[in-house]
Amino acid sequence: MKQLKPLFRTLLPFVMTCSLFLTVQVTAKTPIPDAAKYGYHAISARNMEAFLKFIASDELEGRNTGDRGLNIAAKFLESQYTIAGLTPVPGHDSMLQSFDVIETRTKESSSLSIRSGKQDTTFQLYGDFVILSRHSKSMSGSYPIVFAGFGYKNDADNYDDFKGLDLKGKIVIVIDSTPEWAALEEKPKGLRRKMRTLRRSKAEWAETAGAAALLHMSADMKESRIKLIKRIYARPGQMLESSLESIPQFLVNENLAKALFQNKTTLEALTSQVLDNPHAMQFALPETQIAFNLEIDAVAKTTQNVVAYLQGSDSELKHEAVVLGAHYDHVGINAEGEIYNGADDDGSGTVGILEIARAFAGNKKRPKRSLVFVSHTGEEKGLLGSKYYTSHPQVPLENTIAQLNIDMIGRNETNSVYIIGSNYLSKELHQINEAANSNVDLNLDYKYNDREDPNRFYYRSDHYNYAKHGIPVIFFFSGTHKDYHKPTDTVEKIDFLKMQKITRLVYLTAWKVANLDHDLSKDGLLLEDKNN
Ligand SMILES: [Zn+2]
Repeated sequence: MKQLKPLFRTLLPFVMTCSLFLTVQVTAKTPIPDAAKYGYHAISARNMEAFLKFIASDELEGRNTGDRGLNIAAKFLESQYTIAGLTPVPGHDSMLQSFDVIETRTKESSSLSIRSGKQDTTFQLYGDFVILSRHSKSMSGSYPIVFAGFGYKNDADNYDDFKGLDLKGKIVIVIDSTPEWAALEEKPKGLRRKMRTLRRSKAEWAETAGAAALLHMSADMKESRIKLIKRIYARPGQMLESSLESIPQFLVNENLAKALFQNKTTLEALTSQVLDNPHAMQFALPETQIAFNLEIDAVAKTTQNVVAYLQGSDSELKHEAVVLGAHYDHVGINAEGEIYNGADDDGSGTVGILEIARAFAGNKKRPKRSLVFVSHTGEEKGLLGSKYYTSHPQVPLENTIAQLNIDMIGRNETNSVYIIGSNYLSKELHQINEAANSNVDLNLDYKYNDREDPNRFYYRSDHYNYAKHGIPVIFFFSGTHKDYHKPTDTVEKIDFLKMQKITRLVYLTAWKVANLDHDLSKDGLLLEDKNN
């Protein structure tokens, strides 16, 4: 850095104090509006503890999506919102937004065979391969195969690489990586989560090209890894009917990969050949066919979001809304009969937004815009409830000016909360939250407010489905802990005073946004990236 001029050096301390004073000025205490005071102080740890003792009780059996415990929780929330003075959204006669999910499981009797000449070699599920896709009905067939190197990876310049390849009615086999990652000695951080996104984009490409199935060859599929994947995929999974995959996706190990090439090469040798000459390494394997037999157990289950409404006071602006969300589902009971109470995940958010709703309804004056409280189902199954709500919004998404999402606020450091996504789509929303916090004085921790963060928390809760539609969001989160997704995530470990502070912060931010006399700015980091 260039050396500073002497005069400036003498002035520096004075300049520094001015700017410090200025910064302090910016985040100085912004008083709570009179009309919001009752609600703010009405938010109480005691109430939330009382609600959570029910929501996270054994009687609700871990609130698995589609099961009795969750349906009882829905009725409870509906009654509490109604008692507090909230209603269904105009045009709807119930707060329960019901829809079906498909619960599916691939039976272990499913198999995959390689036919080469007269020889048939059969491989067992969870032996040399796993199935990454979920389906609503059994399927089988035998298909010719084509090798496509690393396959498509979702950026424009890579698309033309496969123009000459006819994938119609064929099974496409690809190397389970990208040229960049395959060339790296050390694997980049957070690779596993990125792999999921990569495989999904390859599947979309293969499906669009008319392929019958997609097969990823992975050098990373050791026995321990297959065991881990089995633990996830052997359990029933749930999907919205609309997002059931159509073509099967297989992840196969080195052993199966070699068999595909009649043991004449290895995955490593194949990878370096593709790195050396990608265009040459795309070809059909005329002598070989793959036959698969998928046996699927699938059942439709009905579940529901709980959507409660508080109409705004301004004749115009009441048509716009701020959505407050949490997920009231959790993972149910495991094979050993242990109940996953989900007190923190996300019982804390569920009772948090209920308490905020009661606070708003208790105020004499309503904010200008309306408020919609959505208790999402199916979050643990893949953000299903928010996916369904944002594709069946009860207040049009274009009139939804922000979404504030709470997921896990009852544990860890008592005076701190992670803020994620607040400046991604609106810098003003970020500033409003900062200003609101001048009354609550929490430590707003932006450690995970990074889209490259390997934990990928920004993508892992319901706000993400709203952000995908360009709606400014804030995710309030207190971090995972030793009881995360364990039967030990129970009520007595919850810090209710911490929850009281965070819910008061969310309440104030919601109040300020709902009362803005102008449109919330749309100028966040995501939009800047897009424009650059
Ligand atoms: Zn959660």
